[in-house]
Amino acid sequence: MHFDSKGLYDTSCNSDDCPDLDQLHRQIQARCSNVANTIQDASLASCIKKKCESGKITCQKTCPPGWRGYYDPSNSGNGANICIASGSQFWSQPDPSATVIHEWAHQCGWEHGMGMGVPNDPGAR
Ligand SMILES: [Zn+2]
Repeated sequence: MHFDSKGLYDTSCNSDDCPDLDQLHRQIQARCSNVANTIQDASLASCIKKKCESGKITCQKTCPPGWRGYYDPSNSGNGANICIASGSQFWSQPDPSATVIHEWAHQCGWEHGMGMGVPNDPGAR
C-alpha cells in the first residue's frame, strides 16, 4: 500500500501495473472536487467526499470477464476494487474514474437504480 502523494485516498496501484495512473488520479480528483455538484443526495455526497479523502483503491489484476470494478461489503468498508488488466472494461470507459466513484458510492449504501448522479448506474433489476 502506498499513500498517494497528493495526500488523498490510499491506493495499492502503482505505475508498473497501471500506466495511466497519473491520468486516473487527475480524473478522480476532478470528480471528487465536483461531488457536491454531481451527487444529488447530500448525505451520499458527504460520504463519497470522505472516500475521496481517506478511502482506498485496490488494483486487481484479475477479475471476471467484463467487470470494471467491484466492492467488498465485508472488508473495511472503505475500498473500491478496480480491474486493471489491460483491455479490461475498466479502461474502455471514456473516464475510468467513474468506476471508482461508483464503487465508493456502493460502500456508502447506494444501490443500482437509485440514480442520484452516481456514474454508471445500470438501473434497478
Ligand atoms: Zn455497481
